[in-house]
Amino acid sequence: MEEVYDVKNFEYFKNRNLKYAFDMLTGLLMREEVVGYVKHLLEKKVPFSFIIVDIDNFKTVNDTLGHIKGDKVLAITARYLCEKTGSKGIVGRYGGDEFIIVLEGVTEYKDVWSLGHNINMNIGSLKSDEIRGLSITVTMGISRSPIDSTDYDELFALADKALYRGKMKGRNCFIIYLPEKHRDIDMTKERSKSYTSTHLCSRVFHYLTTTEKIEDGISLLFKQFVAYFMVDHICIETREGMNFQVIHPLAKNKNFVHLDYDGINNYFNSIGLVYFNKVEDMDEEDYTDILRDMRDQHISSALYCKIRAFGREYGYLRVDMTDTVRIWQQSEMDIIMITANTIGLLLHYQNKTLEELPRQDIFIMPNEG
Ligand code: GH3
Ligand code: MG
Repeated sequence: MEEVYDVKNFEYFKNRNLKYAFDMLTGLLMREEVVGYVKHLLEKKVPFSFIIVDIDNFKTVNDTLGHIKGDKVLAITARYLCEKTGSKGIVGRYGGDEFIIVLEGVTEYKDVWSLGHNINMNIGSLKSDEIRGLSITVTMGISRSPIDSTDYDELFALADKALYRGKMKGRNCFIIYLPEKHRDIDMTKERSKSYTSTHLCSRVFHYLTTTEKIEDGISLLFKQFVAYFMVDHICIETREGMNFQVIHPLAKNKNFVHLDYDGINNYFNSIGLVYFNKVEDMDEEDYTDILRDMRDQHISSALYCKIRAFGREYGYLRVDMTDTVRIWQQSEMDIIMITANTIGLLLHYQNKTLEELPRQDIFIMPNEG
């Protein structure tokens, strides 16, 4: 496939032999070329912005529509990114569903912002017979040189941090790295956090069983959850009300109220789980009362799981996001299910109900600053 845009407009590429520089599938510059170019800009002290673009939930595209469609999505997204970048920069394929955009000479916050915004805003208009009915979104992490760093590895790491934050915020967004906001994201920790779900499950079990007192285990675990998964609100609901509430300092609502138990009960699937990625897209007709309750509490995404054991139902575990759309990941659902099932088992073997457990104060996490 021939390249989809002319890189020869950029000094660095003018005299390069580009015979093998382009990725077959997307027609974009390959990773080695992009890295070479960025290192050249650093050497020549040319200011630039470095953008990592990652397609959201691309695995789902592959899994549901197959790799051939997946490949088409990659090619179409590549073309779209080139169109939006235009003559302002170059676009490369870093690997998999990750792309890099380099904007030579562009580092003003407002200029970078406007490109990011343009890409996010218009990607919905990506329509092609080949991807009919598919909604593609991307998340971007952005760092700038020399503002953030003059070292390639560091610039990459900072853009990656920003990308990670964007994914955690619910995807379909761009984050420009700002030290005061993103300095403390520790990627080695973040990565190891998502290592294996077996590891996470054993952590859940560990927290819940550090003491004989179920209430202490739940409180401890929920505080970990809010910080770790960056969710806004977690609690346990029973027919009688809420307990064990932990609230994130940045939650748009600090005053969550009980959801109608029977109302929500209708929506659990056979394994006792219900999730809403985007509450605003829920059909009014299907969810009238629940929808009103959720919207009143600014709930934008939610994940609920029944607490039950040996055929007995105790209540459900409730996790909410406020004002941020969150596409729940399988690993997150797994952890919530393990938590709910473990609490169910503990209640069963200690012959207790959730209502009997002492009431815990509402805990608002301290703001990290
Ligand atoms: P996230 O929103 O967190 O990015 O979720 P995701 O599903 O997009 O996760 P991730 O970026 O880790 O997934 C990338 C996937 O891209 C994994 C791999 O199966 C797929 N992939 C990588 N290269 C190719 C390719 O050349 N063709 C196709 N069809 N799929 C590819
Ligand atoms: Mg992806």
